[in-house]
Amino acid sequence: MAYGRLAAMSGVRMTEIQEYELPEPVEGQVLMRVSKANVCGSDIHMWEGNHIFRDHVMGHEMTGVVEALGDGVATDSAGSPISIGDRIVPVYYQTCQRCPNCLQGLFNICEHGSDFQGAPAAREPHFTGAFATHYVVQRAQYFFKVPDEVPDTVAAGANCGFAQMLYVLDQCGALADRTVVIQGAGGVGLFAAAIASVSGAEVIVVDGVADRLSDAERFGANHIVDMGEFPTVEDRRKRIVELAGREPDIVVEAAGVPVALDEAIRLVRAGGEVVEVGNVSVSEERAAAILPGLITRKCLTIRGTLRYQPWYLARALRLLAREGHRFPFSSLTDREYALEETQLALERAANKQVARAIIDPQRSAR
Ligand SMILES: [Zn+2]
Ligand SMILES: [Zn+2]
Repeated sequence: MAYGRLAAMSGVRMTEIQEYELPEPVEGQVLMRVSKANVCGSDIHMWEGNHIFRDHVMGHEMTGVVEALGDGVATDSAGSPISIGDRIVPVYYQTCQRCPNCLQGLFNICEHGSDFQGAPAAREPHFTGAFATHYVVQRAQYFFKVPDEVPDTVAAGANCGFAQMLYVLDQCGALADRTVVIQGAGGVGLFAAAIASVSGAEVIVVDGVADRLSDAERFGANHIVDMGEFPTVEDRRKRIVELAGREPDIVVEAAGVPVALDEAIRLVRAGGEVVEVGNVSVSEERAAAILPGLITRKCLTIRGTLRYQPWYLARALRLLAREGHRFPFSSLTDREYALEETQLALERAANKQVARAIIDPQRSAR
């Protein structure tokens, strides 16, 4: 009998390593051996108790190799033949294809998207999160083969922020010669900078942390605006116009700070678009005042985007295979932990002692 291990949330800021018998994949499923998993900001958010998930298997950014295929699985979700040992990356949520949102083609907000991700670790098939030796890809989940050019740590993160930003920016239309301002140079902001840059946009990144601003330059920003140097919204608006020669066409809120949305509305040109991806919490203390008259008078489009349409993961992988070498993606993950060290990895990430931690579930703790 083969067993696997997983890191379950056992309380607020608590983690427990549990062991279960590995399930045989049933029809339509794939059993994956996890090679690498990234600790994402939203994993910390959940572990800190700011989410409905309480006893789930943690983690959602992962890549691995096919260990067993259920009946009927001969290809990945793009039709490429699949066999045992192939490197794959799953979309971390599922799409039921039957709920009202799925029936409108909005697979990214499927009402059942988190049915497996949020399931208690004790419930079969147990292996429903990334911080585990194994993961069961469900029939209602898309998954794709990883191109040889894309390393494991990059593929693991592609299924979250990178695919999301590709989807978000694609919805804004052609980016060539458009000015894109990105608020926040965390992981998602840097992905936005890289994608906008390879798409031919003029990219301006706004942040207040020097290290993050230098990261932004390495991820394709043409200009950076340091909030320390330009402390007010009006200072930053003038600086952006000075740098670009015009007001921005698109502002991407990737800072996750409620007041940043108000700033975005003030920065963007008339007829422009504001994209909201950074703010994800819906608790009342995360409310912010905006000036609605500016939306009317400037005829703005404000676009909120959760997750991404599943096929954008395939596009993200192709883009990373082709253009990934231009950006230092590997530098975004700075420390590797064994599965048994998941609690430590989460603590260090929450305290900002590491920028982006990786879990290597196949490695044993020293
Ligand atoms: Zn994530
Ligand atoms: Zn659905």
